[in-house]
Amino acid sequence: MNQTPAFIWYQGKIRPWAEATTHVMAHALHYGSSVFEGIRAYDTPKGPMIFRLHDHIKRLFASAHIYDMPMPYAIDEIKSACKEVIRVNGLGASYLRPIAYRGVGGFGLGADNPTEVAIAAWVWGPYLGAAAIKEGIDVCMSSWQRVAPNTLPTAAKAGGNYLSSILIAREAKRLGFHEGIALTVGGLVSEGAGENVFVVIDGVLHTPPLSASILHGLTRDTVMRLAREEGIEVKEMNLTRELLYLCDEMFLVGTAAEVTPVRSVDRKPLPGAMPGVITGRIQKRFFDLVQGQSPDPCGWLEAVG
Ligand code: PMP
Repeated sequence: MNQTPAFIWYQGKIRPWAEATTHVMAHALHYGSSVFEGIRAYDTPKGPMIFRLHDHIKRLFASAHIYDMPMPYAIDEIKSACKEVIRVNGLGASYLRPIAYRGVGGFGLGADNPTEVAIAAWVWGPYLGAAAIKEGIDVCMSSWQRVAPNTLPTAAKAGGNYLSSILIAREAKRLGFHEGIALTVGGLVSEGAGENVFVVIDGVLHTPPLSASILHGLTRDTVMRLAREEGIEVKEMNLTRELLYLCDEMFLVGTAAEVTPVRSVDRKPLPGAMPGVITGRIQKRFFDLVQGQSPDPCGWLEAVG
């Protein structure tokens, strides 16, 4: 997998990989003051297309707004730059990573260091492993809780938030699981280290609400719409930990993880073959949509140009 693409868009220009560097005294390196996005482009019959680019860039700007980080470019400029990065690297299906961060200047926490922006793209296969999409994964409940709503805002996709995700992911890996799921400080289900959670109970899809310290995932939003179109009832509601043991099916969603079935929670196997019936229907709808194999009524796919 090529994770070192030849060119990166950095501060308004396409530059060779080696020249897209920042200073060691950049504020973001010390304090986690960055906001970023993860976006996928897919190969479709009409060529490479980016899925929900506009919504991702809107979320990038919303994250920057929460942290009073002025964005030196307009939404449309960042969108065009994302497309350009894919084109100049000759990529098809790929993963885009726009990042905006406080650069050099003052050293104080409240310093108004100018925002720097970079966009990279590389080929990144299924995040939880190539077999995961078909065979499912083993997850554990993390001993780490998600941040409380009045500590770090989870609606912001900010670099610093990912220290929590790193603890959850590393603990899971150390214990021999593919991924960890965190509870909120109130003890209810929140999300995976880098994915939102869905469970199927008696044919109804359930997912924790935005108030459960989750990132407002765009795949979560996509899956809720696709499920409703399929005639599957969807409920946003708080879930207790034991519901993850008792549910009929469970899956994790995210731009990187796409739609990944879960086969066991804390070593307790979930019933049925992988993927479950409803999970399989959602997977098919999702992959047909992002790969341009089905109609795109919301205009979520944007050509790379
Ligand atoms: N929660 C967390 C913590 C994440 O990092 C991600 C991945 N960005 C998600 C949920 C899923 O969000 P999305 O579907 O927008 O990628």
